[in-house]
Amino acid sequence: MIERRHISVWGAVQGVGFRPFAYLLAQELGLCGFVINTSQGALIEAEGEASSLDEFVHRLKAELPSPGMVAGTEELLVHLVGEGDFSIRTSEGEGAKSALILPDLAPCALCLAEVGNPRDRRFGYAFTNCTHCGPRYSIIRSLPYDRPNTSMAGFVLCPACRKEYEDPSDRRFHAQPTCCPQCGPMLSLVEPNGASLCEQEFTIRRAATLLKEGQILAIKGIGGFHLMVDARDEEAVVRLRERKKREFKPLAVMVPSLEEARLLAVLSPEEEELLTSQAAPIVIARSKEGLAPSVAPDNPNLGIMLPSSPLHHLLMKECGMPLVATSGNLTDEPLCIENEEAMKRLAGIADAFLLHDRPIVRPIDDSICRMLGERPAVLRRARGYAPLPFPLAGAKPGIAAFGSHLKGSAVVSGEGKVVVGQHVGDLDNHLARLRLEEEIRDLSAIQESEITLAVHDLHPDYASTLSAQAAGVKTVGVQHHLAHALSLMAEHDFKGPILAVVWDGTGLGLDGTIWGGEFILVDGKRAERVGHLRPFLLPGGDSASRQGWRSALGLLHEMGVQCTSISHPRADQVKSLLAKGTGCTKTTSAGRLFDAAAALGAGIMESRFEGDAAMRWECLASTDEVDPYPISVRDGLKKILDWAPALTALQEDPDGPALKSARFHAALAQGIGEMAANIGVEAVGLTGGCFQNQLLSRQTCCVLRRRGMTPLEHLNIPPNDGGIAFGQAVAAVWDVRFDQEEIRGESRTMES
Ligand code: ZN
Ligand code: ZN
Ligand code: FE
Repeated sequence: MIERRHISVWGAVQGVGFRPFAYLLAQELGLCGFVINTSQGALIEAEGEASSLDEFVHRLKAELPSPGMVAGTEELLVHLVGEGDFSIRTSEGEGAKSALILPDLAPCALCLAEVGNPRDRRFGYAFTNCTHCGPRYSIIRSLPYDRPNTSMAGFVLCPACRKEYEDPSDRRFHAQPTCCPQCGPMLSLVEPNGASLCEQEFTIRRAATLLKEGQILAIKGIGGFHLMVDARDEEAVVRLRERKKREFKPLAVMVPSLEEARLLAVLSPEEEELLTSQAAPIVIARSKEGLAPSVAPDNPNLGIMLPSSPLHHLLMKECGMPLVATSGNLTDEPLCIENEEAMKRLAGIADAFLLHDRPIVRPIDDSICRMLGERPAVLRRARGYAPLPFPLAGAKPGIAAFGSHLKGSAVVSGEGKVVVGQHVGDLDNHLARLRLEEEIRDLSAIQESEITLAVHDLHPDYASTLSAQAAGVKTVGVQHHLAHALSLMAEHDFKGPILAVVWDGTGLGLDGTIWGGEFILVDGKRAERVGHLRPFLLPGGDSASRQGWRSALGLLHEMGVQCTSISHPRADQVKSLLAKGTGCTKTTSAGRLFDAAAALGAGIMESRFEGDAAMRWECLASTDEVDPYPISVRDGLKKILDWAPALTALQEDPDGPALKSARFHAALAQGIGEMAANIGVEAVGLTGGCFQNQLLSRQTCCVLRRRGMTPLEHLNIPPNDGGIAFGQAVAAVWDVRFDQEEIRGESRTMES
């Protein structure tokens, strides 16, 4: 029987070659009708045998090539038209702009093959792309996603490219950024003073020569600048560190291929899958030998990535060696995107600039992933991931979440979803705060929604809180650790009951003290802080987060133990502060507990950058197979996880740091298991920055499973403060809050 169906399609169906795919499929099945992009996705009217129509819809979903994805379809029977053929109609460009914007994706295999084929007209061309790959988010000015609305608008298609662009059977049919050496962006290599070193086809070879000589290059990629230098050349890497004023923080390394990556790092199948995914993130893995020591000083891990654009592929192939690839900015400043701005700001760092003439509409950083307990998670959500939305039932447009202070990020709600923006960075810097505000405007402009509610952290001094309050709309504060918990739950679409173990460095608690070792029970709209780490005094407020020895003194003071193992010039002064209780902050921070253990167990007195001491402490552990130190759970108004027995055992342990660290981590995992069993909930969520600690995560998952509980870990939302904005938005949509009794708790005792 002949039917005509009106088929609405939603999902990732724009800018991914969906229409040519539908066109070819319709032709194969002998259907007539048309396909058109709509603001909600795509619309198809197809006419033919009912059985063919069934097959058509089934195969639309099943066979659309990646990164496309059909999330759902809806079919209606309509009157027959019988137009005789199937056609592709152009976008209507009206209505609510809810079509999905895709992230920037690394080149597909077909494009890479063309770039490497001397007989192809795109041989060696750094801007090759198609509907399955290439830039998206970084070049889009507005929706719908059509070339005039991108930074490719200024590049007029040559006849050959136009033919592909208009041919429904071509892989570049309506590939908005498509181009070739005749009509697309061009590279140039210039000196810091602007003098041209090279243009056209020899540019990449010349750039590679400079890199091989140990020079530092600033390279304009898809979403911003990288600073690159030979990762095997110690002298060159040290020079880059000096010029960039980045002393210790590990530098990421780009390698030409997966084979090269395997030479430099120990990679699990999951890690290899991430590396070669089209998001092409930096993957943190155990490093092997072969790189300059200054790439990641005193750090057994390496951040490694594969090329994320044809430009990087060509450059890496020409160089044939691993290159440091660090963000092209001064430490703590946002990425540069304009050629002139970059040349000004990076003049003292780069020896030469590899530029191109396609404007970057939005700067976008590299993403970072790492294995947690049982699977990998995104620790920094940027290129390749942002601005993918998350479905969130009940969400309505109008909510903006401003996130935390460190690892800033923004989230804006839409109909039944939230759009998660990219990593903005720490907000200490004025420019970063401006970027957060711009990100909120940008995400809401893309969605054509107006902000009516600004959600923020309870900390009054966070730059993000100030930005939310300056937005001129209704505001609501969400407690930091509740936001962490909800970010994890929403990611798994799970409303509880769940015991969220939220361990991080700091977050303002409802009682005015600094929380960070929390056990929060969430069930539907109700949340209760059912337990926490034994509180202790943190001498010296903020400076304690960098100086683990201060935390150690605070913990020993709480235990009433005389400390002999911390020999710091200012130890006596800090001890007297503790004795008097002045200049101290009460805290339950798990992050500070780890810092203290690193100081007591391995003499790691200070963090050279955020999370450094805890990471070095984690990496010291030599084995998972140890007997944990004792740790206890005490009952009371709240359940208390008491770390004191573990610290006592740590101090008395005659073995070296490798076993001490292993036993300490095992103790905390046991403690979490004990606490969870005590509370008696099946699902246990692990969130907060401390769960970036692979050893802690792995052991905790193990303990929980052994005790018959189910651990929940992050996947696509960072466990660190990069996930706070998402959790804040969830709190607003799900309307989750703490029980009132919490707010009536202790009075505020915030210290400066
Ligand atoms: Zn491609
Ligand atoms: Zn062309
Ligand atoms: Fe946090």
